[in-house]
Parts: sequence; structure tokens; C-alpha cells
Amino acid sequence: MSRVFNFSPGPAAIPVPVLRKAGSEMVDYGTAGMSVMEMSHRSKMFLEIIQEAESLLRDLMDIPDNYKVLFLQGGASTQFAMVPLNLFKNKKADFVKTGQWAKKAISEAGRFGTANVIASSEDKVFNYIPELNKSKFSPDADYFHITINNTIYGTRFTELPDTDKPLVTDMSSSILSQVYDVSKFGVIYAGAQKNIGCAGLCVVIIRDDLIGNALDITPTMLNYKTHADEASLYNTPPTYSIYMAKLVFEWLKANGGVPAIQKVNEEKAALLYEYLDNSKIFKATVVKKDRSLMNIPFVTGNGDFDNKFVKEAAAAGLVNLKGHRTVGGMRASIYNAMPIEGVHALIDFMKKFEKQNA
Ligand SMILES: *Cc1c(COP(=O)(O)O)cnc(C)c1O
Repeated sequence: MSRVFNFSPGPAAIPVPVLRKAGSEMVDYGTAGMSVMEMSHRSKMFLEIIQEAESLLRDLMDIPDNYKVLFLQGGASTQFAMVPLNLFKNKKADFVKTGQWAKKAISEAGRFGTANVIASSEDKVFNYIPELNKSKFSPDADYFHITINNTIYGTRFTELPDTDKPLVTDMSSSILSQVYDVSKFGVIYAGAQKNIGCAGLCVVIIRDDLIGNALDITPTMLNYKTHADEASLYNTPPTYSIYMAKLVFEWLKANGGVPAIQKVNEEKAALLYEYLDNSKIFKATVVKKDRSLMNIPFVTGNGDFDNKFVKEAAAAGLVNLKGHRTVGGMRASIYNAMPIEGVHALIDFMKKFEKQNA
């Protein structure tokens, strides 16, 4: 077997034991005589899978009983529209503009009402989380939206905004990577292809009182109530992606759950930042206090050098290190499934590159 260390921002690496288990069950799941992919979503066997997935996630994130867990499609991007359609009453929400995903959330909400940007870090290519000035918060906002981990720019909120409105967050690239207090949020949504499993699934965790008040124009499929009432089985859900999520949740639980993986994630990120902060040719782009544990962008300051590094790293089995086109340089995404050995291998390679090119 020749597995590479895959630093892709998403779809991203999946734990090898999960892939092996899925492989062993691919052709014949349990006593079904068929793959999970071929199973009715209403079959007893699949119902057990989706219920177990939900119960594991509730356990891992300590989700309170007054929250629904929904397994939806359309990616995190569909949530940019679904949230305003379902939460707008005054048709106004406050946003912190911290990157491309925040911008998309803002522009979708703007289709249905007022998306009020109360702070932005666009002036410095989003390399920090802006200070929030409470006097700018809208007293009549229906919700307050943040992108808690900014996948492209490598920043994260380490403190939540002090708002009395329902706090809505795009948690696509940091869900299950560190302990979050779900009760502080109105809605959490996350595409699965970073820390949950494979693409095709979006997990939504939503407080009960925010369900059932959608705008009249809301299509049935975009109404949280549709999916909450039917336990995510209104139509055919992404069955295989839900099964993969269940396997990832089992893996995480077996490895000590979120507090344990948070420790590993902190250690991985600290190793890489520490190297970057002392390197003569590589430099981390994000201000220290706002650095993500999951996505770590860095540059050499020389485009040709960056390209050379990405190419040579790939040849050495360290793949998908090219940075986003708006930042340039490199980005190492080190989600839960990236073992610490991968980070060591990357640092060793960078040291070698630095020696050869200093
Ligand atoms: C990847 C990502 C998205 C996009 O998710 P899709 O599932 O492709 O729609 C949105 N927000 C954040 C923070 C992401 O990392």
C-alpha cells in the first residue's frame, strides 16, 4: 500500500481504519447481501445506520436535547440560503466578513433581506479575525453569523461574539476538531468532506425554536421543518455519506472523542507554526492570536519558489499543499484524519528544502 499524506482542504483525508472498514463492508454489509449504497433508505438496516450516526454525533459534541441534528444535501453552500429563508423575520442579520465563505453567506442572505457586515478583515487579505464593536450590532437582527474557521485564510474565532441573537456558524472546517459548546449556538452547519467523511452530506445542528418559521417563499426542500419532521428522511438522503460519517464518528469515539483529538490537533498545529515562525524561507501568513488548528497557510514570498516547493513535496508523497489562488503560496490542511506523522514528515521535508534553497 502506498498512501500519501494528503493535505487537501476538502474533500480531505479520511482515517485509514475507516476506509478499511468501509472496504470490508463494501460488497456485503452485515447480513444484507448488498452494499449500503444499494439499500433502501427506509430499510431497517439503514435506519439503524442513520440513528446510530446521529446518536454518536450527539454524544461526541454533547448536543443538548433541544437541538435537532439534520443530515442534508447541497453542501454548506446551500445553508447560505437556507439559514436566512428559515430564520428571517425582520429580514436582517449581522455578519463578520472573514473570507470567501463568509462573503458567499453574506451575498446569499442579501437576496432575501439585509446582510449587515459589522466587521471585516478584507483589508489584510483576511489574515486576522476583526475586533467586534458591539455598538455596530443590529438590535433587530434575526441572527448573527460567523465562519468560525476560515478554511482558505487559516483563521479561527477563539472567542464567540457577545450577542443575544441566535448565533449561526459555518463550522465546515473545524467541526469535531476541538470542543465547542453547542448550547451557545442557534445553528451550526458543516459540509462533511473535511472532518466528517465524504462529500454529499451537510450536517445541520439547529435549536428547536428556530424551526417552523420559514418565509413563505421557502421551497419545501429548503425548509428545516421538512427535514426535522421526517428525521432527515423526507426524501432519499445521501445514504452512503451518512454511513461514512457514522464510521468516522465511531473512529473518533474509539480514539477518545473530541477532547482527545483536540489535544492532538493542538500539538500538530503548534509543531508546524513553531517551525514556520523560525524558518528563514517560510512564513505563516496569519496573525498569531487567530491561527487555525486545521488550515495553515504559508508563503516563501517568491512565487517560483512556492511552485517548486509544492511540486517537490508532491513528488515526496506530501500532496495538495498548493495554497488558495487568492492567498498564493501553500496551505497545509491538517484535519482530524491527518496523523501527527504527516506533520512531522512535512516539517522534515521543509527543513530539507530550506537547507537546499537557502
Ligand atoms: C468547504 C467549505 C464550504 C463549502 O462547502 P460545500 O459543501 O462545498 O458547499 C463552506 N464553508 C466553509 C467554511 C468551508 O470550509
